[in-house]
Amino acid sequence: MRLPRFDYLGPDTLEAALDLLAFHKDDAKILAGGTDLLVRMKKGLLKPKALISLKALNELSYIKKQDGYIKIGARTSLADIIASDLIQKEAQALFQACEKIGAITIQHFTGTIGGNILQNNRCHHYNQSQFHRSGRQACHKDGGKICYAREEADRCNSTCQSDGATALMALGASIILAQKGGERTVDLANFYTTDGIMPHACESHELLKEIIIPVQGGQSAYHRLAYRSAIDYPIVCAGVLLKPSPKNEIEDARIVVGAMSRSPLFLAKASSSLKGKRFTDMAAFKKAADDSMNSAAPFAVHNVGATLEYRCAMVSQMVLRALEQAAAAIKA
Ligand SMILES: Cc1cc2nc3c(=O)[nH]c(=O)nc-3n(C[C@H](O)[C@H](O)[C@H](O)COP(=O)(O)OP(=O)(O)OC[C@H]3O[C@@H](n4cnc5c(N)ncnc54)[C@H](O)[C@@H]3O)c2cc1C
Ligand code: SF4
Repeated sequence: MRLPRFDYLGPDTLEAALDLLAFHKDDAKILAGGTDLLVRMKKGLLKPKALISLKALNELSYIKKQDGYIKIGARTSLADIIASDLIQKEAQALFQACEKIGAITIQHFTGTIGGNILQNNRCHHYNQSQFHRSGRQACHKDGGKICYAREEADRCNSTCQSDGATALMALGASIILAQKGGERTVDLANFYTTDGIMPHACESHELLKEIIIPVQGGQSAYHRLAYRSAIDYPIVCAGVLLKPSPKNEIEDARIVVGAMSRSPLFLAKASSSLKGKRFTDMAAFKKAADDSMNSAAPFAVHNVGATLEYRCAMVSQMVLRALEQAAAAIKA
């Protein structure tokens, strides 16, 4: 599979990158590490006229603690996040998620956290070569009017398999989207659309500049299930955050399930069921994990491998393991 032709644009400042985005709009795509984008282009799923590379924008590569937040530049590599003491100490779920992404080559050489969040949703009916897809009618995402994954669907239900986005949503993260002349901050939990063709609300003239994580003084954890331990996407994953009260009970909890739907799912009911419970209350954790499974199941679509029944059942396991791990870290 060969890459289609495109113009390569290499701005050396953020301002120049935003000027280029404002000028080219839908005709251009941002190139960070390229480990998602270039694969899609090779498969003929995307043919931008120009790529605006972030390679020279070192100003978008940093991890720092400031004003009660951890701030991460969008072009920061997955390897830098894994190596960061700050992330390991205060955002354990993100560390655990990044460690699982792809393979060491993806983490070390090119993959970025911004690209991880903004990678396109996936579906095994669609993420195929042009030759494979040409053998049958086009689905919604390919410009047609049908869906192979959910027959009656009037829209695309491709699945968000981003490990990073699931962990970051559990941590209550927001993102800063910059455009020429301004920027906006969006809570990651409100960033997603209801259509897998354009799964998130980053406009074509916008650039993801920074990820901000509130330092909440709790413990977080992340677990995922994939066919292989490397070079594979999750088929179910879960990120959780537990915050202790002065009485050492659970003051606040966040449970997020990923790889089951068009976006990571923040499960408010299961999360709030843990408020006031003790960190040793395993029955409460089991109930929250089962509630998470029941809440996530209606969103799930059979389009990323394994049977739907198996993935739904595993939601409960992933959530339970993450809760137990976060609780153990608080007790330690
Ligand atoms: C074999 C393989 C296995 C993988 N396994 C996993 C996995 O287990 N878990 C997982 O989560 N991912 C996985 N991935 C997907 C991908 O490698 C990672 O998500 C990686 O972090 C993407 O980062 P990138 O910098 O390469 O993104 P790119 O490919 O450069 O970009 C991805 C998308 O985001 C846009 N973009 C990137 N940065 C910005 C920005 N700052 N502002 C606006 N738009 C931007 C691009 O235009 C593109 O549409 C895998 C990929 C491969 C090829
Ligand atoms: S979910 Fe349906 S419309 Fe979307 S990519 Fe898969 S088959 Fe196509």
